[in-house]
Amino acid sequence: MSRRVRAVVLVEGVVQGVGFRPFVYGLATGLGLDGLVGNDERGVFIEVEGAPSTVEEFLTTLRKSPPPLALVERISSGLVPATGEAGFVISGSATGGPRRALVSPDVATCADCLREMGDPADRRYGYAFTNCTNCGPRFTIVHGVPYDRPNTTMAAFKMCADCAREYHDPADRRFHAQPVCCPACGPRLRLLDSGGEEIAGDPVEGTARLLGRGGVLAVKGLGGYHLAALAARADAVTALRERKHREDKPFAVMVPDLDAARRLCDVDAAEEALLTSRARPIVLLRRRADAEVAPLVAPGNRWLGLMLPYTPLHHLLLGRLGAPIVLTSGNVSDEPIVYLDEDAVPRLGGIADAFLTHDRPIHMRTDDSVVRAFRGEDLPIRRSRGYVPHPLTLARPVPRTVLGCGAELKHTFCLARDGHAFVSHHIGDLENYETLRSFAEGVDHFARVFDLAPEVVAHDLHPEYLSTKYALARQGVDLVGVQHHHAHIASCLADNGVAGPVIGVAFDGLGYGEDATLWGGEFLVADLAGFTRAGRLATVPMPGGAAAIRQPWRMAAAHLDAAYEGDVPADLAVVRRNADRWEAVVALARRGVSAPLTSSMGRLFDAVATIIGGRDAITYEGQAAIELEQWADQTEDGAYGCRLVGREPFVVPCAELVRAVVEDLRAGTAPAVIAARFHNAIAHVVADGCARLRDSGGPATVALSGGVFQNLLLLGRATALLEARGFRVLTHHRVPPNDGGISLGQAAVAAARDRLR
Ligand SMILES: [Zn+2]
Ligand SMILES: [Zn+2]
Repeated sequence: MSRRVRAVVLVEGVVQGVGFRPFVYGLATGLGLDGLVGNDERGVFIEVEGAPSTVEEFLTTLRKSPPPLALVERISSGLVPATGEAGFVISGSATGGPRRALVSPDVATCADCLREMGDPADRRYGYAFTNCTNCGPRFTIVHGVPYDRPNTTMAAFKMCADCAREYHDPADRRFHAQPVCCPACGPRLRLLDSGGEEIAGDPVEGTARLLGRGGVLAVKGLGGYHLAALAARADAVTALRERKHREDKPFAVMVPDLDAARRLCDVDAAEEALLTSRARPIVLLRRRADAEVAPLVAPGNRWLGLMLPYTPLHHLLLGRLGAPIVLTSGNVSDEPIVYLDEDAVPRLGGIADAFLTHDRPIHMRTDDSVVRAFRGEDLPIRRSRGYVPHPLTLARPVPRTVLGCGAELKHTFCLARDGHAFVSHHIGDLENYETLRSFAEGVDHFARVFDLAPEVVAHDLHPEYLSTKYALARQGVDLVGVQHHHAHIASCLADNGVAGPVIGVAFDGLGYGEDATLWGGEFLVADLAGFTRAGRLATVPMPGGAAAIRQPWRMAAAHLDAAYEGDVPADLAVVRRNADRWEAVVALARRGVSAPLTSSMGRLFDAVATIIGGRDAITYEGQAAIELEQWADQTEDGAYGCRLVGREPFVVPCAELVRAVVEDLRAGTAPAVIAARFHNAIAHVVADGCARLRDSGGPATVALSGGVFQNLLLLGRATALLEARGFRVLTHHRVPPNDGGISLGQAAVAAARDRLR
């Protein structure tokens, strides 16, 4: 017998629930190797035995072409004495050691499964829960590790003989697919009326019929319940808005296929790749003028959020309807998305005419992700289903386990250790008990599944944020306070795997500053461990505090009063519209009572939107600034002048900009042109500010972060100007520039400080 060797291999990363064991089985048996493969808490363990060159070939293929859904972090191997045992087996999961295995995100239905669902001769014909090793639910159904059926919400479904055969057959594409099931043994659909009583007949057909009549339906998805209505039916969309108490915030639309997407929006190659990716996010696309959707789907918006079907149920429903549907989170106003069956009828019964539901429980609530394409790459707006809990690889190791508690709006948290950061799914706005509980439970779940016990806890400096209070209440950990805008810049650094120092431009709505004013138009010279505030927007009072966020005309009053030193032109439309309350609000601003000072860029955008466009009050966060971007004439190159004043930190005088806007308005310039000139002016402010800091010895790399940089017009123009001046520009690709990225930034800062200990 020729010489045999036995190699022991450990594969770490996202390697469970992604078809890794069947892949190894096929590879090893194809090469005629003996041995075994199994999952344990660290990942996948393999033993292969055979001729030395064949074992070598096995290892090379393993490294070069692992299964498509796997994210291999590390492959380590060593030799042990050969045993001479013949055959290759898949062994059961071992338990007991430290848990290191990673869980895959949920994956959109694959082409093979779709083909089966459409084949009348297949036993899964028309089955709404078809899945395989390459697709199906993952993160949303896992409650423990290792990723095996008993640790998922599929545990209660006993496989039938046919499914069991597939599951145990190494040659089958469902070999060890944990959620495998079929009409005989798996979950079932049910259609319920608004009171929870079952409606007879085929549930998908019934749902399509009700939607076709203009009904609003709750549809159970992967990470929670959605509310659906035909996108082209004005009466249905209006009813949905009214019942959900959502006034203007755009709804997302699910289209049957790519052709349908192209009938509603312009789709370029990068956007097509995003739409059809395994994560299947909502992609914000330029809406076509002739798009057949009801006006209330996305009022006054040039963009439309589209997504393709990502579960078998969506495919069945959209296939039956052949028309786009609004598909929005199943909740009332700002509450978290409903995901428990027992909550669905009580909480959504007042909105939905009927419920398309099923009996596979959702363990982890997860909203749809939202993304834009910027220069052909991802610009995440909300990172959740399909991406979470994929770890972000960090450039620098995290010595002790860190928990970043996030901020308040668009909340996420982040657990990091070694080279991995696990940024959570989107939790929502952390403003009530329900979202706070969701945050706390989420931390416990991540800690359990990834075996991460936080030793260092990072938090925002704002004393009133529930995330800060949560951090301060944790016992036995080291606390690290991280300034909000430093966290933004650190998130952009971590996103790009860069350590700094950089010039960080952090423009957003508001964040608590080190001087107890509210920052938001900041130039920082920063690395991960620290920063200095090198420039900022001029401060103005926010008359009425939070009221000035909901009523941006108050910000217009504050900015106009500052720009004209009390002598505001009385014929301005914004003054006339708010004449009866103008003086009182200006007095509030001047007295400085209930009027905290802010250097916020988001609030300046609000003020300008109100002055030129008449948006006096908003119904969702960032609305006025978002509308300002929409109005802007993209072909306009003119920019208002703005000279930076002072040193260390320099100040961007808002008054000059506001006066230029008003002069143009009074001269009869079109609002679209004014909006564009204002955007261009801010882009120049960014470039001028950075050039000034580089000239005085600052770095030549710039990081752009904060919610204002979700604005593609500003982001594009600022990036172009900076590059023209020779800067390297870092933008976001893996986490959002908005507060959804804050938790990663906090964790990165805390880890950097921990490395310096
Ligand atoms: Zn599949
Ligand atoms: Zn079955």
